Amino acid sequence: MTRIVIAGGGLSGLSLAAHLAVADHRHPVVVVDDGSRPLAERTWASWSDRPGLLDAAACRWFDRIRVHVSGETRVLRLGRYRYRVVRGGDLAAVAGRFTAPLRHFTTLRGHVDGVEQDGVVVDGQHLRATWVFDSVIGPAVVPPVDACLAFRGWYVRSERAAFDAEIPTLFDFRTAQVGGASFVYVLPFDAHHALVEHTSFTAPGVVENGVAQGEALGEYLTEVVRTGGHEVERAEHAVLPLRSRPVSRWNGSVVAIGAEAGLLKASTGFAYQRIQRDSAAIAESLHRHGHPFDVPVPPARFRMFDGVLLDVVRREPAQLERAFGALFRHRTAEPALRFLDEASSMPQEWQLFAGMPAATYLAAARDRLAAQGRRT
Ligand SMILES: Cc1cc2nc3c(=O)[nH]c(=O)nc-3n(C[C@H](O)[C@H](O)[C@H](O)COP(=O)(O)OP(=O)(O)OC[C@H]3O[C@@H](n4cnc5c(N)ncnc54)[C@H](O)[C@@H]3O)c2cc1C
Repeated sequence: MTRIVIAGGGLSGLSLAAHLAVADHRHPVVVVDDGSRPLAERTWASWSDRPGLLDAAACRWFDRIRVHVSGETRVLRLGRYRYRVVRGGDLAAVAGRFTAPLRHFTTLRGHVDGVEQDGVVVDGQHLRATWVFDSVIGPAVVPPVDACLAFRGWYVRSERAAFDAEIPTLFDFRTAQVGGASFVYVLPFDAHHALVEHTSFTAPGVVENGVAQGEALGEYLTEVVRTGGHEVERAEHAVLPLRSRPVSRWNGSVVAIGAEAGLLKASTGFAYQRIQRDSAAIAESLHRHGHPFDVPVPPARFRMFDGVLLDVVRREPAQLERAFGALFRHRTAEPALRFLDEASSMPQEWQLFAGMPAATYLAAARDRLAAQGRRT
């Protein structure tokens, strides 16, 4: 009997379990998690132009975003896209609606020590599996890190009704450029509460400067948001490694999923929507073919674009503001979001790139291709 073990019950593990449940999968599925990253403390924002299986988990939906770039604030409609916020507890509850009624879907509290071709080792015990989906150990060999995304987020309660509850700020460059190209991101929950995040693209190996990011956040809240006094109710911080080259995620019966599979978009650090698409494709492939390999791969040029942007920004941090400004200069945010979603056509991409300094990007692309040539 085919048995599936999912190592890690975070975003990718739960999303895959839910998609397997609706793909009419009759095989036993075990999700193993050690609770090291509690779901109750997690929040994901993402955009999408189509309905998804776990949409009921979203606690907020937005049809506009705000951007502040080159000294100008703009509010942009999202066209066919919607921006949404999912909290970890709600994701678990909605995924559970699909999996809990199925007696052959179980969860196991335990620490995954290792993944093997015939199963996983949980707290020293071997758990047999035909397919292992791994979001915790990851492939033995991974491509080099192009850059890191260091972010520090504060869940803030403001004294004044200082936040615009209807419009999140995707990026605002009115902040100290701490250790690399930096912007602030604001996700409002209501007029008094928001997640405010200082985000910096840094070179690989640069040590995160938490103190400076904290100071930048305080300054932003006081001088830009003008909270008139605020309290930080909770904080989060992370340094995400960004890789533009693909991860070899398939190793016999072991398949990496989530961030370990390279599903973090290298130019944004977002992964939620990619993980949803990947989960749906894996479940569909298992259902149709009895194996998980029939998963679409986006055209390679998008990885090239990500890599070139990161190279340019590493050399000249000020280019990030120019690039984001160019991408989001249209009447709606739809063209930019479609591009970041890797669903744009080449003519649409040329239109988007028209606002960027061509020579800078062409030189970076040439260097990257030359380095690639030397490696092969
Ligand atoms: C703080 C933070 C905020 C982010 N915000 C966003 C966002 O807003 N939008 C977006 O698109 N992306 C965001 N990302 C990027 C990405 O979507 C997340 O990292 C996402 O959670 C990746 O999913 P995952 O399943 O790979 O990892 P996780 O969701 O972290 O799941 C891994 C799970 O494995 C468990 N675990 C870990 N080690 C073991 C072990 N050895 N044995 C057993 N269990 C183990 C953990 O408890 C956890 O539940 C964010 C990343 C971080 C770090």
